[in-house]
Amino acid sequence: MPVTDVLYPTRPMDCFSKMKELRRKVAWDTWNSRENGRPLALSGEVGATAILGAFDAEILPSMPTGREMRDLDWVVKLNEAAETKGYGRDCCATLRIALGAHFLGTFGLIPGKEERLKPDVVFSLALCQGQMKAHQSYADHMGIPTTHIELPYSHPRPAELTDYFLAQSHDAIEHLEKVFGRPCDDEKLIEGVRNEWRSRLAMARIAEAQKAVPAPLKLKNFISFVVFEWRGWNHRAEVADFYEMAQAEVEERVREGIAGFGGEKVRLLHEGVLPWFSNQVLRYPEKYGGTYVASWTHFTNSGAFYQDEEGHWRVPSPPWERGLELKDRDSALRCLADLYLPNLMNNFVMERPDHRLGLARDWNVDGAVYALDRGCIGMATVLLESVILFKDAGIPVINYEMCCTNPADFDEGYYQTSIDAFMDRWR
Ligand code: SF4
Repeated sequence: MPVTDVLYPTRPMDCFSKMKELRRKVAWDTWNSRENGRPLALSGEVGATAILGAFDAEILPSMPTGREMRDLDWVVKLNEAAETKGYGRDCCATLRIALGAHFLGTFGLIPGKEERLKPDVVFSLALCQGQMKAHQSYADHMGIPTTHIELPYSHPRPAELTDYFLAQSHDAIEHLEKVFGRPCDDEKLIEGVRNEWRSRLAMARIAEAQKAVPAPLKLKNFISFVVFEWRGWNHRAEVADFYEMAQAEVEERVREGIAGFGGEKVRLLHEGVLPWFSNQVLRYPEKYGGTYVASWTHFTNSGAFYQDEEGHWRVPSPPWERGLELKDRDSALRCLADLYLPNLMNNFVMERPDHRLGLARDWNVDGAVYALDRGCIGMATVLLESVILFKDAGIPVINYEMCCTNPADFDEGYYQTSIDAFMDRWR
């Protein structure tokens, strides 16, 4: 077994304990939503949850990937339960787990109680067809209404979509006023939009800090930050404050030369969703001095970026620094459109290979590993085209197949022997 040299100092992140505390707090806020007289939405993923914050609504995350993924036997049962009802392997795998939990009666269970939370509505900023279909199925299963704001894929001129986004957002607010039986508080909407911007900008700056050699974080640690975005909590002030605190700590690590992985010799990009049930995938290359430092999937899921004409990744400035005022409902929704139309790279499907190449170059990546996820229609689109582009650009690249939520579709031994062979070129 190769032995990794220690090349850089490391130390744990101070803010992780704060993150755990905050995760517990927002989870308990959700579980206590009914006692606290709050409306409840099934939501999360992507964003625009400032709209829910304007109603003081709590959010039950539609992706139960934490609790439900801890026991592998249970994960297999969830997959089977969804499959029995006709949700096969062509459906979104992550949300199939959620459907399995709905069918087996564990979705929304309040810890320590026999009670399940029943949301008032399903709300989403919809970015892929798998998400849209799954949310419709949740709503049918629970007998509750849905409201969606669609982010159209691959529109070359996002500014032209602003009116469409605004019309959908105003309609969604009107619908939620009826469902929740209370008015939208525009002051809270403005504050939530500001916080969504702050959260995503801080995550973009944390991602940018990963350009440093050594990278201040392992990719695994970066991904653990993304949880607030996946859970739909980016609009909360305490979450935005946390992200800014984490950004300051990560930037301090860069200044002091603190590494996420002290043996960093080979900088790797991991592309695609990860097998959520395996802890070893990101760690495995470390025995050869390899460390994953970047990922288009996770950087774009959590941050705000656009690609400039030279192919470099740029972080937008917030709207209030560009003279865009947040003063009422319409201007707040415009600022949401300004965040999610031009600065969410996921929207530009055909440009993804170029984004990934720009990322590999800007972040000084030596090689790339692509996870070809059978269960994620949204992120897997044009992955193979990206692999070809990397080969043409002379960047070493391999891929492996898996399904992010189905252990039966992942051969970990094959992944490890592929990495053994791949890393050989840097020995
Ligand atoms: S992007 Fe992938 S994991 Fe997310 S909703 Fe779409 S298919 Fe599911």
